[in-house]
Amino acid sequence: MRTARVVVVGSANADVVVDVDHRPADGETVLGSDAVVSPGGKGANQAVAAGRLGGHVAFVGCVGDDAHGRMLRTSISEAGVDVSALRTVQAPTGTAIILITPDGENSIVVAPGANRLVDETMIDQVTWAAGDVLVVQLEIPLPTVEHAVRRARRADVRVVVNAAPAALLPAPVLEAADPLVVNESEAALLVSGSTAPSTQVPVPGPASDTVRRLLELGPRSVVLTLGAQGAVLGRRDPAGAVVLTHVEAREVTAIDTTGAGDAFVGALALGLAEDAPLDGAVVRATDVAACAVGRRGAQDSYPTSDELSAMTR
Ligand code: ADP
Repeated sequence: MRTARVVVVGSANADVVVDVDHRPADGETVLGSDAVVSPGGKGANQAVAAGRLGGHVAFVGCVGDDAHGRMLRTSISEAGVDVSALRTVQAPTGTAIILITPDGENSIVVAPGANRLVDETMIDQVTWAAGDVLVVQLEIPLPTVEHAVRRARRADVRVVVNAAPAALLPAPVLEAADPLVVNESEAALLVSGSTAPSTQVPVPGPASDTVRRLLELGPRSVVLTLGAQGAVLGRRDPAGAVVLTHVEAREVTAIDTTGAGDAFVGALALGLAEDAPLDGAVVRATDVAACAVGRRGAQDSYPTSDELSAMTR
């Protein structure tokens, strides 16, 4: 029997990580640590998170014909992820410049490169099966995301939409999301409907209100991640009433939050592919994300299923 598959359509980036005392202000130059290059990108991270946990996972994306592309291909396939739809293209592999401050927080600039070439023809080559779960995020062209969502829904495949980096979404993508997964700044942008940079949109009050407002945008369910405060999930009961659940984060000393949200999304999607209820899948996702926060790196920090069970015993 074939097990349900998580299909991640998304970005793969080389993360160039530099520790700094503080973020540079306008016009300021800051001296940092030596740069460390490691495999990242929201899509690749999510696929690796699910793959490390032992899931049946496929990744659809693009890398360049360069050292960073080879590093990513190795990292994704070593996590047990099917890379037959990972294309090598004539563009530099995507790069993320990541600054980490002593509190473990990060600031990121992404140069998309090869990720711009993830297109509809790649989606058309995916064979969907009942029970599969599609995961999309927003570091690849939006028309490709829309096409993937359309194709998946036509095959009755569940869709997890991670609206990251923060952006407004077309109604068909929002309405297919089950769940829509966002952090606080992504949520703020979506509920404001503003096209201003997400940092300029005020966080809209209590998390429960935010989840209600997100549900009004049309997704079938919502997961709002709250960093060290865990996550709030929201959905409607059969009578249409909103049901909210708060899942606490696991306590951990934050070493590096890079890729925590991606670990969360990958683990959540795998739980759903394995038929877990949404709240059960969120609990495991918070455990996996806590593990990612407690270690350095993005993909390098993700636990295997054995490491996860050792940690959660
Ligand atoms: P993002 O990484 O996308 O900004 P969050 O900061 O909300 O998203 O983190 C995603 C998830 O990672 C949270 O829901 C939580 O489960 C976990 N997490 C993040 N920061 C911490 C922390 N300091 N301690 C424990 N868990 C954390």
